[in-house]
Amino acid sequence: MSPSNALKQKLVSQQEKIANSKTNAIIRTRFDKVSSKITNNSNVLSGKTILVKDNIAIKGEPLTCASNLLQSYKSPYSATVIDRLESNGALITGQTNMDEFAMGSSSEYSIYGSVKNPYDLKKVAGGSSGGSAAAVAEDLCDIALGSDTGGSIRQPASFCGIYGLKPTYGRISRYGLVAHASSFDTIGILSKQLKNITSAFSVMSGKDPKDATSSMETVLSLEKYNKEVLPKRVGILSDHLLSEIDSEIIDRYHVVLDFLTRNRVKLVEIDLPYFDYCVATYYVLTMAEASSNLSRFDGVRYGKRATSKDLNELYIESRSRGFSDEVKRRIMTGTYVLSSGYYDAYYSKALKVRRLIKDEYNKLFSKVDCLFIPTTSSTAFPLKNNLDNPIKMYLADIFTVPFNLIGSPSLNIPAGMLKNKLPVGFQIAGNSFKEETLFNFAHSLNKEELFK
Ligand code: GLN
Repeated sequence: MSPSNALKQKLVSQQEKIANSKTNAIIRTRFDKVSSKITNNSNVLSGKTILVKDNIAIKGEPLTCASNLLQSYKSPYSATVIDRLESNGALITGQTNMDEFAMGSSSEYSIYGSVKNPYDLKKVAGGSSGGSAAAVAEDLCDIALGSDTGGSIRQPASFCGIYGLKPTYGRISRYGLVAHASSFDTIGILSKQLKNITSAFSVMSGKDPKDATSSMETVLSLEKYNKEVLPKRVGILSDHLLSEIDSEIIDRYHVVLDFLTRNRVKLVEIDLPYFDYCVATYYVLTMAEASSNLSRFDGVRYGKRATSKDLNELYIESRSRGFSDEVKRRIMTGTYVLSSGYYDAYYSKALKVRRLIKDEYNKLFSKVDCLFIPTTSSTAFPLKNNLDNPIKMYLADIFTVPFNLIGSPSLNIPAGMLKNKLPVGFQIAGNSFKEETLFNFAHSLNKEELFK
């Protein structure tokens, strides 16, 4: 069969799978728009199908962030990542479900309804990029894009048993990503194949004149990302932090540690710096940034406009009807921590704590090449489990938020299934702009098939 016929067949089969999927991961497809883009060119992503989280702009397509407020909004331009992927042969086949404005850890806060875990439809897929993670796990695409502000790629990747990369802050342009918390937001990549992640990463990374926070740091050649190299010194969790974690996850953790010891990798027991303060610091800062970012959704410039007698009422009505409870909770808390009188006690204090956390991690990364730690303390939780307890939902991010606070890269690697037939993952986290350390380590582990 010719390559283009094989590709056409793949598209038909993925379209059928999407039609039969029960996870509610996909909110719209655009197969009709990609068939004309099939070429015989051999670019690095030729023929790879990509599903995109619905907070990343694709020209002419709806961009709703799973919010009532943006239900009728279409994007007039494409995100830089979309342009870069398409010009390297990738086919953008549709858009995925998520938590409204990427605020959540379970993909249940969505106008389209909850995303379900492909391995157990009564469990969550994780969030907020749950649609992207479930879609990859079900083979509805080769690669999915997500966003990670506090764990939204790695946590669902762990719950769905796939690779998920949060790059260094500034490594990949955020132009065209709807802002949640601008100093934390990253666009990242999910796939079953590590090589798909490295290919998409090498194409998407690098300076973008349209994003002033994107970095000039050199992007290496793809071969450098695809080598198998074990790090020399790896930071691992001390026993008291492991006490919070499911015992079967710890058993798997030790399988990897034994393998590393056999291969003469030096294991250094570490304490995650200011571990108990990270979640609180993260939520004070991200809610403050979100309250400011979401002020643009006023019913005038974007999306739904409520009918009203004056301008003030128009703002109030459009926002009250447009946002759901979790988003309102964050806007109100964020406005509170920024208000005069509370600014010093909360926002300014949290900025200082962020600085301290960053300094400690810098010291840590001078002693080890990377960290190897769990992504989540358990497998996927039941649907509705955390809905009436926001604090419990926020604590789902305990192992992922530190790397957003400090801006460094982290990769979830799948670590097989537990007895409950649900997948679990571990994180490899490294120093800023050292994604190659993560990829090379992950390739070495992948080759060993440690979790079969
Ligand atoms: N669960 C975290 C939150 O709700 C992370 C969100 C994200 O990474 N987009 O803020």
